[in-house]
Amino acid sequence: MFGWFQRIGEAFTGRDRRWPAVRRRHVERFPECAACGSTQNVEVHHITPVGHAKRTGRPELELDPDNLLMLCGPPKDCHWWLGHACDDRKWRPEVRRLADEIRRAEVRSQGDV
Ligand SMILES: [Zn+2]
Ligand SMILES: [Zn+2]
Repeated sequence: MFGWFQRIGEAFTGRDRRWPAVRRRHVERFPECAACGSTQNVEVHHITPVGHAKRTGRPELELDPDNLLMLCGPPKDCHWWLGHACDDRKWRPEVRRLADEIRRAEVRSQGDV
């Protein structure tokens, strides 16, 4: 789990002290991965990464619920491939829309069975 955090550069260092509470509230509201619906190893993803937000003068994005999205870690790893395009320096601004589309497709395919 900690290896995962380090790999994607979302270590705990430098986080706002209100972050743990914001994070906990978000997990309670959205216990499932926004893309696949998994509840395994879900993590709160920042759509605009905290480091980038701070560098570009928008530090409030760290705690903004509109900038947060639940994505799962391994084994499905939607956080990595969907949230970060398999590169810890990257992110996808349109990740919420992509996750919505994947989620709808998954629900539809399950309904066909
Ligand atoms: Zn997922
Ligand atoms: Zn992330």
